[in-house]
Amino acid sequence: TAQPQPEYLTGDVAAINAFIDRFDVFLLDCDGVIWSGDHVFEGVVETLELLRSRGKRTVFVTNNSTKSRSDYVKKFAAMGIPSDVEDIFGSAYSSAIYISRILKLPPHQNKVFVIGEAGIESELKSENVPFIGGTDPSFRRDMTPEDWAGIADGSLLDPEVGCVLTGLDFHINYLKLSHAYQYLRRGAKFLATNVDSTFPTHNSFFPGAGSIGMPLVNSTGQKPVSLGKPSQAMMDAIEGKFHLDRERTCMIGDRLDTDIQFGIQGKLGGTLAVLTGVSHREDWEAKNAAAVPKFYVDKLSDLLKAA
Ligand code: PLP
Ligand code: CA
Repeated sequence: TAQPQPEYLTGDVAAINAFIDRFDVFLLDCDGVIWSGDHVFEGVVETLELLRSRGKRTVFVTNNSTKSRSDYVKKFAAMGIPSDVEDIFGSAYSSAIYISRILKLPPHQNKVFVIGEAGIESELKSENVPFIGGTDPSFRRDMTPEDWAGIADGSLLDPEVGCVLTGLDFHINYLKLSHAYQYLRRGAKFLATNVDSTFPTHNSFFPGAGSIGMPLVNSTGQKPVSLGKPSQAMMDAIEGKFHLDRERTCMIGDRLDTDIQFGIQGKLGGTLAVLTGVSHREDWEAKNAAAVPKFYVDKLSDLLKAA
């Protein structure tokens, strides 16, 4: 049996107005909706202005953990979109607040071993969470004979590490994996900023954060708790911060298995798919569709026809 198919809003002024009126808050995915890489899609600036002028709250929700919220404020500003760190919810930030406010590591084991880039480090700093690894050059090198011995007997491990956090790391190597593996074996909590298999760039795909963490899944037999879309830990964190009325909140995204699934699992009042990114019409028309949106438009700026 086919699943109920989405309502197509493009070109239908009455339907677009009814859609906008249904919601108070729009959670907007970034890559594939607002921009592609560093290129902002035409009409997006005006569409965000329209939503805001109608009293809507716009919150940006991205799985990209390589940047911090303040990096995103700069990126938005360069594209002509005014924003505030408070409007931005990235997976590096959701990981940091999950660790500091929900995980509650014991004080003698409150350090995080990071596999990832600077965006994770700056969000951990903003929540006063101590960490090692990450961009530290002493973890970005080959293994020495001393490393093998010291990791194995624990003398090179930090006894205060209570958690391993994996995100996209452009310098992933065997030294970091070996440290992380040993911490996990010793009982550290296993978290991931997001578990995307791939991410889109340069008109193609590259291995995503979920693929970076996979050697640890395979070697330990454990699975991380993900703090990115579609995880409900991320939705709970957003709800806690913005006090959402879920029925009057709509998730807008380009990817069925992350964004649309996130909105459906989170029991939001609506999900809107756009066709400017990863997923296409055939994907939700397929029998085994990862998720089916409630609405779709060709591109975000189609909502401007409501003006
Ligand atoms: N992770 C990385 C490293 C990315 O570069 C991107 C998109 O550029 C994503 C994840 C997906 O981001 P979003 O959730 O904004 O689509
Ligand atoms: Ca996206």
